[in-house]
Amino acid sequence: MFRKILIANRGEIALRVVRAAREMGVATVAVHSTADADAMHVRMADESICIGPAPGAQSYLSVPAIISACEITGAEAIHPGYGFLSENAAFVQIVEDHGLTFIGPSSEHIRTMGDKITAKETMKTLGVPVVPGSDGGVPDLDAARRLGDEMGYPVIVKATAGGGGRGMKLARTAAEMETAFRTARSEANAAFGNDEVYIEKYLGRPRHIEVQVFGDGRGRAVHLGERDCSLQRRHQKVLEEAPGPAITPEMRARIGKTCAEAAASIGYAGAGTVEFLFEDGEFYFIEMNTRLQVEHPVTEAVFGVDLVREQIRVAAGLPMSFGQDDLHPQGHAIEVRLNAEKLPSFSPSPGTITQYHAPGGLGVRMDSALYDGYRIPPYYDSLIGKLIVHGRDRPEALARLRRCLGEIIIDGVDTTIPLFRALVDEPAVQTGDYDIHWLETWLQTHLRG
Ligand code: ADP
Repeated sequence: MFRKILIANRGEIALRVVRAAREMGVATVAVHSTADADAMHVRMADESICIGPAPGAQSYLSVPAIISACEITGAEAIHPGYGFLSENAAFVQIVEDHGLTFIGPSSEHIRTMGDKITAKETMKTLGVPVVPGSDGGVPDLDAARRLGDEMGYPVIVKATAGGGGRGMKLARTAAEMETAFRTARSEANAAFGNDEVYIEKYLGRPRHIEVQVFGDGRGRAVHLGERDCSLQRRHQKVLEEAPGPAITPEMRARIGKTCAEAAASIGYAGAGTVEFLFEDGEFYFIEMNTRLQVEHPVTEAVFGVDLVREQIRVAAGLPMSFGQDDLHPQGHAIEVRLNAEKLPSFSPSPGTITQYHAPGGLGVRMDSALYDGYRIPPYYDSLIGKLIVHGRDRPEALARLRRCLGEIIIDGVDTTIPLFRALVDEPAVQTGDYDIHWLETWLQTHLRG
């Protein structure tokens, strides 16, 4: 086992990794920008080191600064959290070239899955069902038009290098293809420096279902069921739950097995998420995330495992501490993402926390790096905490969520808490009957400024 690891991240996820490492007797090094000198992850880690000025590009994304920090502190491995360098294959290669261990999959697997066309082709070959669409990239508008006519509208034009919902444009009819194609391309070029796009059949009312897989890097892999992340705003997840209200045990076993076998056959190491759109009882692969997800705690709650502990074990060369037969979901878990944002615009609301009180009690987990007097810097993501509740069933989890949303206090900045207070009593949320478009429509009628 490692003696010391470095956490190349900040906020709640850095704290999350410190907690797992401490329980394993592994020392931690926190890195931070000048803006984060007083951050909770810095206070909680065994050691800390400043790696640059406030902007992420000069600190949390600075590869030389992070590698130097390992050399100075003697850290043997790097946990990337999510975001920042977590899915950067070139970074992983540099880490390995310096004789350090990356706590995550190989650079090759990150590269394969980071290119969405290659990812789709790989998954299709491995027997995973994919969204019908173009075979690879679409070179020009004429080809896009031909495909649209062949497949039938609506279709969606997507960036090969895509992420965070960018470079993705809907063409409802043939007349909309030109604009969709050109805008997707120029957005992709601006965001990723790569203007290649591909085309998929647009699904009208799917749910977002993702399967958690975990591999030991030596050909063994398991699945830990699914999460339903259909409540989205601008393609960003807002609330996640496990198990998925629309997924039967038979569907779970079938899609889970397919994903675990795919992960095993490529020798995947660590945590990965296979994302699907789910419509009329069918799964359609859209992408694989080669990292720990923001919403991993709902899976941990229902399966009773610590995924970060497992990531560290596997990276250190130890076997996984569970096999497929040890994994049985218990009850129901829901996570809500608490962002420092002002409603109804969802514009960032950085500032000083004047009062913080976390909810507690049975089945409650609050993953947050907040404290009284903490100043939320304006430079980073607006996620300030995740509230996760676990109950024996979905109604109990929802009742617990409502109770916690009444208890929680975050004063000094605007947050998305009022959104969840309203959502928890919505009939569609109560019954779990929503698709990925439901929240956008609801926001238009309920949150007008
Ligand atoms: P990104 O990597 O940018 O997040 P994804 O491929 O994961 O892109 O898609 C993000 C979201 O966009 C999905 O969760 C879904 O809401 C929507 N989406 C993507 N592909 C389709 C499709 N073929 N039909 C309908 N909606 C889609």
